[in-house]
Amino acid sequence: MTFKSTSIVFLLSLCFIGLLNYFCEVNLLWLILPFLVYNILIVYGSATIQSNFFIRAFCNSNTTEKVFAITFDDGPHNIYTPKVLDILAEYNAKATFFVIGKKIRGNEPIIKQIDDGGHSIGNHTYSHSFFIDFKSKNGFMNEIDHTAEEVFKITEKRIVLFRPPYGVTTPNLASAARELNYKIIGWNVRSMDTTGDSIETIFKRVKEQLKPGAVVLFHDTSEKTIEVLKQTLNFAEENGYKIVSVEELLKLTV
Ligand SMILES: [Zn+2]
Repeated sequence: MTFKSTSIVFLLSLCFIGLLNYFCEVNLLWLILPFLVYNILIVYGSATIQSNFFIRAFCNSNTTEKVFAITFDDGPHNIYTPKVLDILAEYNAKATFFVIGKKIRGNEPIIKQIDDGGHSIGNHTYSHSFFIDFKSKNGFMNEIDHTAEEVFKITEKRIVLFRPPYGVTTPNLASAARELNYKIIGWNVRSMDTTGDSIETIFKRVKEQLKPGAVVLFHDTSEKTIEVLKQTLNFAEENGYKIVSVEELLKLTV
């Protein structure tokens, strides 16, 4: 089910009801039904990155190998990102950081440290504004390009991964990402580490969802995540899992 196929079915159902009205005098109030269903599907498709509604998003690998990827959104953070990097180094694990462009200034050494540590850097827009989903295609392209330039200045590498803020996709975001040749990265293990839940609850949630090929979503913006990360890495070690970057996980799929 994609935006295109849903729109075609929607238009066909309008025509069908129109014909029924013309030939069989069916009440036109039935038109409300396809409008309602169409709008519900659009909202669901926008809010659910795993639905691949507007654009295909890589949310996990189908591999049976005991590997999974850890991703961090919303950094760089001057306190927590270095702590995350220290723990990852301790466990020799590689992660992927989806950075917000406007947070890079002043944190350039952290971006360098991420890159030097062999981790991947992804694009998470420049502003991460709450109203970002109202942006035009050009607006999204500017957001993405601006962050890519900031990262390039430090690492001299072009970013190829993009994670939409809040996991919300729109037709304009999809066209911008397609035009700029980005791969959209989602997740299939949501830690919900930015909620008020305790460390134990967050780790339990992660542990219960973990399986080969998973993509875990964390945020390098809080103290709690540091503890959950440690527990997740211990769990991985005890259960024979290897942690890889999203790029490496993608290679196992394509
Ligand atoms: Zn975010």
